[in-house]
Amino acid sequence: MSIKDQQPVADPFALLKSEIQAAVSHWRHSEEESTWRDPLLAVASADDSLFPKLREVVDPDHAMPSDLVPDARSVLVFFLPFHRSIGRENDLEGYYSSSSWADMYVETNLLIREICNYLKGCIERLGYRAATTPATHNFDEQKLVSRWSHKHLGYIAGLGTFGHHRLLITEAGCCGRLGSIVTNMPIPPTPRPAGEWCLARAGKRCHACVSKCIFGALQKDSYDRHRCYEQCLANIPRHQGSSITDVCGKCGCEVPCSYQIPVALREKSE
Ligand code: SF4
Ligand code: SF4
Repeated sequence: MSIKDQQPVADPFALLKSEIQAAVSHWRHSEEESTWRDPLLAVASADDSLFPKLREVVDPDHAMPSDLVPDARSVLVFFLPFHRSIGRENDLEGYYSSSSWADMYVETNLLIREICNYLKGCIERLGYRAATTPATHNFDEQKLVSRWSHKHLGYIAGLGTFGHHRLLITEAGCCGRLGSIVTNMPIPPTPRPAGEWCLARAGKRCHACVSKCIFGALQKDSYDRHRCYEQCLANIPRHQGSSITDVCGKCGCEVPCSYQIPVALREKSE
């Protein structure tokens, strides 16, 4: 498709957000159950100066937007927040993840793929290009670092800030999953939050996430990603099915940042 075929869009953010909502609504309808809260969307400029830094702070092999779309202009990052019941069940389950948590992991990854297909279709109908990435398992299994880190992309796009537990805390909390898509469609970037949305990182008392990690991976002053991954792998045999359920997530369930920006920091973000 030539550039002449590209159609102007008055509000591309609103259009693409409505595509995400349509995909979720269609999925909810077909599954006859509502297990996600309203999705969030944020946009980063592909030229944002933080992208090259991902090769310093995440991995030297981290992909750049232009690796996916040569003339990339925008990176869309969306978050699908889980209903509190999902986080509560995982918290109550004890040592292993709850079956509903594992099911949500598998199902949300499928939904993310569906949303990416919706977005790609919409963008291509407008005459632009788009490239999708898998929701998970796009990481180096030796180093346990991602070559396309949705959390870091979400941070760059202004979707949230990092918590002490290394999850991204969004306006709807950290309990949920992230997806992303790259396009050459120009979309105004969304601003990054002005302050921290993690109590500990904002200098306040918390570390509730540390108390939730009874596996020794997350401490007040350190995080052992290999111990964390071991615990995720320990959950696989607990949940039978066709998909790999290397999940844990206990540090993000039933803590002050699970489903919202912690109350003590909310006024600052408004
Ligand atoms: S539980 Fe507290 S310290 Fe841990 S990430 Fe959330 S707000 Fe930060
Ligand atoms: S995911 Fe599980 S093992 Fe990893 S830091 Fe959180 S609670 Fe600990």
